[in-house]
Amino acid sequence: MILGVTGGIGSGKSAATDHLQQLGVTVVDADLCSRVVVQPGRPALQAIFSHFGERLKSADGSLDRAALRQLIFSDPEQKSWLEALLHPLIRNEIQTQLQNADGPYAVLSSPLLFETKQSELCDQVLVIDVDEATQRQRTLSRDGVSEKQVEAIMAAQLQRKKRLDKADYVIDNSGSLEQLHNALQQFHEALIPRDVS
Ligand code: ADP
Repeated sequence: MILGVTGGIGSGKSAATDHLQQLGVTVVDADLCSRVVVQPGRPALQAIFSHFGERLKSADGSLDRAALRQLIFSDPEQKSWLEALLHPLIRNEIQTQLQNADGPYAVLSSPLLFETKQSELCDQVLVIDVDEATQRQRTLSRDGVSEKQVEAIMAAQLQRKKRLDKADYVIDNSGSLEQLHNALQQFHEALIPRDVS
């Protein structure tokens, strides 16, 4: 069983999946997979350098991700080009990592699970949810970014209501971290098959 875990920025998705990992569940992180596919030696990296030029190459030959983000930020056409290249590769990487997972279920953690259709790889989806004000406040204190940057990221993500509509399960993370952990513990126990002996 593959459980997708998602939520808007600052909702507590990482806090939740870190805890599930501590409970022994394999967690595949879509963000990490998106970095793996552009590592030196991977074909996507050469394709990116050929398309955008060597200005995206760091001194050590790796991809300058910040420069790439900057480049596609205000250029939807280039953004689409990049997504068409990377999304299938990221999906393959996720699938490979999920295939290597054992245990009664594995988690796919992705901030853009629905937006990128990675939800198609999942049997069920758990949304970690807080209201938008809490999202902003927790992101600001975590990342030290500007309010404008947080707004831009939130605007690029699915609206809260739409995300909730698509969820199979929702865990509210407006309380303490301890409350989140307790809710996850209960959720985890309900998912794993009971020992009937
Ligand atoms: P996401 O991965 O969804 O962007 P994080 O898990 O990184 O969100 O959580 C955002 C920030 O809020 C982090 O600094 C995290 O430690 C903090 N946080 C998460 N859940 C809670 C909570 N229930 N109470 C207080 N802080 C929290």
